[in-house]
Amino acid sequence: MSRTLIVATHNAHKTGEIAAMLAGCFGEVVDLTAFPDLEPPEESGATFEANARIKALAASEAMPDAFVLADDSGIEVDALGGAPGVFSARYAGEAATDAANREKLLADLAAAGARGKARTARFRCVLVVARDREVIALFDGAVEGVVANEARGDGGFGYDPVFIPEGYCETFGQLPPATKHALSHRGRALEKLKAWLEKSGDPA
Ligand code: IMP
Repeated sequence: MSRTLIVATHNAHKTGEIAAMLAGCFGEVVDLTAFPDLEPPEESGATFEANARIKALAASEAMPDAFVLADDSGIEVDALGGAPGVFSARYAGEAATDAANREKLLADLAAAGARGKARTARFRCVLVVARDREVIALFDGAVEGVVANEARGDGGFGYDPVFIPEGYCETFGQLPPATKHALSHRGRALEKLKAWLEKSGDPA
């Protein structure tokens, strides 16, 4: 298939996961690093869905003919009232590194006295597909787990080294990419997207 998918992100890790999981569905997968003149929109929404819509529509506005996919995702930690949620990327401040965000999460859980089963959390992902300046599809996915006591493993990105998915002892940072993809919030949402692509034929 020759159609191109534009992933409305500058996060190379997200693009890599999406490209791996959609292998064979698109001729090419590119992200916004290929369009340096495009200003990223402000992610001002209160929900993953609102922010995914903002990102998809901003990219579609600039490239109306393109088939655009936006991902908004993050981790919700029960002992922190669902934080960091939509603020996952900037939990330790604007432009915070993944390591700084993880350290803050571990410090906040320690300060809250949350141990063992009190460290339940989930990753959530909302995917929005846009074309011709309109949202044409939306899919979501989640994976339950717990926050580890310390970072383990250097695979994946973001909070992967501190997230242990339900049914496993290892963190996403320790598990092979294929295992993460089969279980993850993004993997689950992408499975729904793939089923929709198959059912609706070639949307390009
Ligand atoms: P977004 O790019 O605004 O959607 O922010 C997503 C943030 O959530 C990332 O920067 C990570 O901190 C976190 N996140 C989302 N998905 C994952 C994942 O699969 N693994 C680890 N962290 C993730």
